[in-house]
Amino acid sequence: MPSRIPPAPADAASRRAAKPTIVYPAATLPQPDMAVLDAARQTMVKLRDVVVPPRDARAFRVSRGQFFRIVSIEGPQVGDLNLWNADDLSERFFSGKTRALHATHVGTGDRLWSTMPYLRPMATISHDTLGWYGWDADGAGIHDVIGTRCDPYTNLLLGGNAYDFCCHSNLSRALSAELKLEPGAVEHHIHDVLNVFMCTGFTADTHQYFMKASPVRPGDFIEFFAEIDLLGALSACPGGDCSATHSSAVAACYPLGIEIFEPDRTTLGGWSWPSPSGYHRRHGEPG
Ligand SMILES: [Zn+2]
Repeated sequence: MPSRIPPAPADAASRRAAKPTIVYPAATLPQPDMAVLDAARQTMVKLRDVVVPPRDARAFRVSRGQFFRIVSIEGPQVGDLNLWNADDLSERFFSGKTRALHATHVGTGDRLWSTMPYLRPMATISHDTLGWYGWDADGAGIHDVIGTRCDPYTNLLLGGNAYDFCCHSNLSRALSAELKLEPGAVEHHIHDVLNVFMCTGFTADTHQYFMKASPVRPGDFIEFFAEIDLLGALSACPGGDCSATHSSAVAACYPLGIEIFEPDRTTLGGWSWPSPSGYHRRHGEPG
């Protein structure tokens, strides 16, 4: 059988030797003033808790200027997070641009950016107890913005069953309960997630997406500062620690906690808030 790989040109080696350029250098991004957030964190008091049962999801609301944590409370568990502008669901978390601006995995000081035509920070990560993990020998990191969310459609595509406690389904039901609409009427609002606590990477040889057991343990949390009024939804993934399977009832699963905090607002006096409406431009505007 003939190879489908065409012969390499004579200058293949020199073409491959071109030097990589960082597409979006971090220095060109407006940087959050972490000293302001550190000071605000010292004053914050907890307002409320939400518990997300295993293989289920819950919606929650956070006001601009509040902090929220996603907490491991009983065992290693991955969470799938969606965020919307609380006043306009058409503005939502933009996983792809967040990945391009920061990295495949996010941590303290990184921001969760919203979709165009807004493209503004929805939340800044103010603390991450798993920040010590870094990149492991497999090239994996924590809190990925690579994966999409487990869903019944892909499961069916790959020959599985219509298991309906996937993150996509759970998030649809949580949003439907919050908005008092049918799940089918809100499903299109569910979007690519931040995979909280998930440990993932790409294989070195084939560059395929892989997952491995999350290192998260009870007491660990990732904390966010809300830059706009947010509606969120969090699913406790049926994959549990995502060491082996998802989209089924096989894995051991645990609840996740959501904790919402109010800081002393006077500590936020020096904070640069995102533009109320994002970046305005006219279509066809010359650069
Ligand atoms: Zn999932």
